Amino acid sequence: MRIDLHTHTRASDGTQTAEELVRAAAAQGLDVLGLTDHDTTEAWTAAARIATEVGITLVRGIEISTRHLGRGAHLLAYLPDPTYPPLVTHLRKILDGRNSRVPAMLERLRGAGVDVDIADVRRAAEGTAATGRPHVADALVALGVVRDRSTAFRRYLNPGRPAYVNRYAAPLADMVRIVDEAGGVSVLAHPWGRHGPDSMPERSISELAGLGLAGIEVDHQDHRLDDREQLRAIARGLGLVVTGSSDHHGLGKHDHDLGCHTTAPEDYERLLELAASASARSGRPTPEVIGP
Ligand code: AMP
Ligand code: ZN
Ligand code: FE
Ligand code: FE
Repeated sequence: MRIDLHTHTRASDGTQTAEELVRAAAAQGLDVLGLTDHDTTEAWTAAARIATEVGITLVRGIEISTRHLGRGAHLLAYLPDPTYPPLVTHLRKILDGRNSRVPAMLERLRGAGVDVDIADVRRAAEGTAATGRPHVADALVALGVVRDRSTAFRRYLNPGRPAYVNRYAAPLADMVRIVDEAGGVSVLAHPWGRHGPDSMPERSISELAGLGLAGIEVDHQDHRLDDREQLRAIARGLGLVVTGSSDHHGLGKHDHDLGCHTTAPEDYERLLELAASASARSGRPTPEVIGP
């Protein structure tokens, strides 16, 4: 069984449509695909249709932008009721924040001597519901300012670089609770990938586990090998599920090929059991796992 629980489409900042992603996952021989666009469920319906057609198992989710200890933290939410009002409200606020910061980023780029028109970003972001820094990066690539997305982040878009602009993100602990109330399960996405252990100390993970956090994404390309082993030990100690996934973005991220990291079947089964009990508790109409 090959299980990849974290991928993106063009509904956020991947480069594939839902149809292309699901077909690619089946062609790669994946058995289970998790679809987790940033802050949107826009690709869910199309992905479900194609998954049924090609006979792959599809777990629908969202990678939610949250904040913890003053820094951005990503939370994978699997199988929540996407109509649960507090979830809808937060996602709306995040998406509004994403859109309203684009002009501010362009203003700062101009200050750094780089002229990008909002139309350039719109073109790069066609089809997305969650405009982000990756689309500003794509516009910079299209204009020949930088070679690729990574260079754009390094030079302009990362915190501390000239064009970085903050945006709204929900407090992490609140979001763990909301996902649970929505009948879904939450997993910390690449907790040490961006800023290392200080940004998500064991103490925090333990508190979140008390609020209903289900798991930790341990096997992820952005984690150092020794950090993976330490996170695995933390997860086991707290009784949390361990996941592994590609965080595939199509051509939008190098070294994140579909299936490059996978989740063990036992952990996957446990995650589904936890989702089933959350939805039984909440009584909310949660999405089914699409099965072959
Ligand atoms: P945003 O949500 O607009 O703040 O953008 C964050 C997203 O940008 C992340 O989830 C990644 O998908 C992408 N990203 C962050 N850093 C890089 C990088 N160095 N190269 C390519 N994509 C990146
Ligand atoms: Zn992304
Ligand atoms: Fe992420
Ligand atoms: Fe991601």
